[in-house]
Amino acid sequence: AERNPGETEFLQAVTEVVASVWPFIENHPKYVRYGVLERMVEPERTIIFRVPWVDDHGQVRVNRGYRVQHSLALGPYKGGLRFHPSVNLSVLKFLAFEQTFKNALTMLPMGGAKGGSDFDPKGKSPFEIMRFCQAFITELYRHIGANTDIPAGDIGVGSREIGYMVGMMKKLGNRADCVFTGKGLSHGGSLIRPQATGYGTVYFVEEMLARKGASLDGLRVSVSGSGNVAQYAIEKAMELGAKVVTVSDSSGTVIDDEGFTPDKLAELMDIKNEHYGRVSEYAERIGARFVPGVRPWSVPVDVALPCATQNEIDHDDAQLLIRNGVICVAEGANMPSSLEAARAFEEAGVLYAPGKASNAGGVATSGLEMSQNAARLCWSAEEVDLRLHQIMKGIHAACVEHGMHKAGNLSYLDGANVAGFVRVADSMLAQGVV
Ligand code: NDP
Repeated sequence: AERNPGETEFLQAVTEVVASVWPFIENHPKYVRYGVLERMVEPERTIIFRVPWVDDHGQVRVNRGYRVQHSLALGPYKGGLRFHPSVNLSVLKFLAFEQTFKNALTMLPMGGAKGGSDFDPKGKSPFEIMRFCQAFITELYRHIGANTDIPAGDIGVGSREIGYMVGMMKKLGNRADCVFTGKGLSHGGSLIRPQATGYGTVYFVEEMLARKGASLDGLRVSVSGSGNVAQYAIEKAMELGAKVVTVSDSSGTVIDDEGFTPDKLAELMDIKNEHYGRVSEYAERIGARFVPGVRPWSVPVDVALPCATQNEIDHDDAQLLIRNGVICVAEGANMPSSLEAARAFEEAGVLYAPGKASNAGGVATSGLEMSQNAARLCWSAEEVDLRLHQIMKGIHAACVEHGMHKAGNLSYLDGANVAGFVRVADSMLAQGVV
């Protein structure tokens, strides 16, 4: 805490991981001797830069840009860019730290990073968005590259923004390397990448339920958020027979007891992806109830899929979900549950999947996009989906292997943290103290 004053999100993420891996490290002194944990909690490099751009009124605006290059141990730095006013160093350090463990869990050769800006895309014109993306890359381009650091999207950064950044990157570098994933199909993107995080989260839920002899068929599901992850989590959950009864954004929650249908999802996607609108407009269009200012967690459900942002489930929300009979919580977002909420789920025997395990399908498919680009090939949707599904099963198996306690209780949280730690730590040990 003294080294990282005020970085509450970063300290939260580190506290969670250390609590899981400490008992393991105590039994394996080599990790202590070579200072693996001490090195792991310090990003290898942090870049902070000025992003000046000109708005539609000719006025100069200045935002702050960041890239936290956390670990190169397993492969090139890899992780998304977030454009949101809440972005600060603490948020990006927590995300880069988590990303390193998550990328390790996929078993693909990717290190960990995260970046972004406090730029708020809401209310900006398409040209303002383009100018900002170009200004951002004119500084970041010197720090990234196909074998160095490959960013992707995150909150506020979708395929449109990535396209603008790829275009500027090509202009500055005169190269067509794969420096971004999450690209549109017209310039090297992979089929299934848009779906991957949401689908992967639901595949992980399928595995957790199957271990208990259950399935999603007929279960009531709540989803928070309404962006990329939420949309495809809804699609896959619906496909597997679940009834999805909520969707939300930062202004409130839509409650629809009849549940999502493919037609309703198409309406939501139209509003969110084509018009950059709000879920209140969606509620109006389909005639559902919109409750301003609240999150979805008071709605009784069997499965909760938080897919919006960090710390969106606090201890009280968790207690409410538990009292209402939730059996499974799988995180599509990064660290949506507070430390206290995560503990409450585990203590109550709820199947609880931390984001670094359950939402790893996105970055895994980004890894597949890198492979396809390097090989100058495009795989079919079926092939990518199959690989994604296998990777999610592999992550689930690794969590079970490393998360089974002597008392017979399984902690997916401990399993994900220990499995990720072992892979990164062994790689660091082999490469010496650097
Ligand atoms: P999007 O920008 O597409 O959607 C984000 C959604 O979350 C929007 O509905 C947004 O509502 C809501 N949201 C964002 N910030 C807040 C906030 N402070 N309070 C309440 N609601 C908020 O992002 P993604 O779907 O890509 O990302 C969602 C989460 O999933 C993030 O935690 C991200 O890190 C994580 N993730 C994403 C991956 C990906 O492949 N995209 C991969 C792995 C994890 P509003 O429009 O009102 O802001």
